[in-house]
Amino acid sequence: MASQEIETLASALARLPGLGPRSARRAVLWLVKRRETALRQLVAALAEVQARLVECDTCGNVDTQNPCGICADPRRDQRSLCVVEEVADLWALDRAKLFTGRYHVLGGRLSALDGVRPEDLSIGSLIDRASQGGIDEVVLAMNATLEGQTTAHYIAERLEGLPVRITQLAHGLPVGGELDYLDEGTLAQALRARRPVS
Ligand SMILES: [Zn+2]
Repeated sequence: MASQEIETLASALARLPGLGPRSARRAVLWLVKRRETALRQLVAALAEVQARLVECDTCGNVDTQNPCGICADPRRDQRSLCVVEEVADLWALDRAKLFTGRYHVLGGRLSALDGVRPEDLSIGSLIDRASQGGIDEVVLAMNATLEGQTTAHYIAERLEGLPVRITQLAHGLPVGGELDYLDEGTLAQALRARRPVS
């Protein structure tokens, strides 16, 4: 029978995405055996995150400052706004260094199955940002899933009538992808998004 402390930590860890109760308990035991190394580092890192990281009131990014580094950077294009589902998507796009504008993190995607409604996401503040003027283009960079595309469609409808150009990421063949290996959805998207040969 595990001690109360181990149970408490294991059940806290089990709430993390991707970790079930079994793997959480294994992680706790692994940490207990490494009190002075891995456990100490984890405690310090968690304390640091709790003390220093905040959510940006403007875009929803997570940073040590609010507004975040991206929102506060005067070199970024203020006229274009890229809408993503999660902070991790923002980071992935920003690592690619192709988009020079600013972001808006929704905090998820619409889902009838999981009961996620428009008011559960930061769609209202997106409409506010787009309505305030000064933004020419809104790029909808949702995931290429049914829920992601439903969300993009819903947002495009809400933005209708505002003087902004609404664009969407193209979905298609991954670079280096061989047709043989692609699933039907990717292949269908690639075919639909076909363009003239230049
Ligand atoms: Zn921000």
